[in-house]
Amino acid sequence: MMPTKTRMMTGNSPLQTLLIATHNSGKLKEYQTLFANLPVQLVSLREQSIDMDVDETGTSFVENAILKARSYSQASQLLTLADDSGLEVDALDGAPGIYSARYGGVKGAAQHQYLLDQLTSVTNEAKRSARFRCVIALCDPQGRMETVDGSVEGQITFAPRGEHGFGYDPLFYLPEYDKTMAELAPSVKNQISHRAVAARALRPILAVWLGNS
Ligand code: IMP
Repeated sequence: MMPTKTRMMTGNSPLQTLLIATHNSGKLKEYQTLFANLPVQLVSLREQSIDMDVDETGTSFVENAILKARSYSQASQLLTLADDSGLEVDALDGAPGIYSARYGGVKGAAQHQYLLDQLTSVTNEAKRSARFRCVIALCDPQGRMETVDGSVEGQITFAPRGEHGFGYDPLFYLPEYDKTMAELAPSVKNQISHRAVAARALRPILAVWLGNS
């Protein structure tokens, strides 16, 4: 099915459409909160009936975010936001990085154990420093592109803790909260996460693009 352009009216000005290029409905909700009050209607890949996948062949978060934003913007002919994120562990020279989703070739609890196993010799908490990183790319159908970066610093725990979130959240300890990311209420995570930091950096850029286009 052809993607549709959505235009709604707010007062006298039409709401522009922003495609959030993700298959993850949780991310779409996060961006809806972060871009509240901007004159923009967020739509998902699913709502646009776009089911293609983009191969993440880049060698960095920024390359992968750009690849996805450009491909989905071309496919939809819409202003498009794509992100790429992951975990960087200093003692592992930045691994798993862009390979976070497939690290160790396992998922869930097995992936947690795999990461912990890589760090068995690193017993000093301070040396287990890590960060979540997120790069967001914004692209329009004419090829105009902007990227922003967000990160949050923490440490890898010695065992998983907490029930919220996803991915590496139960292993990511935030000293200033004395909690893992998975022990934080989702509303708090959504304020402080790497995605939230990047989205806040993007907000004024998006406002200008919406005003100028
Ligand atoms: P993606 O950019 O959403 O594809 O994320 C890639 C991978 O990075 C995910 O599969 C997770 O393993 C990890 N990751 C990214 N963001 C988070 C987060 O907020 N919490 C925990 N893990 C994350």
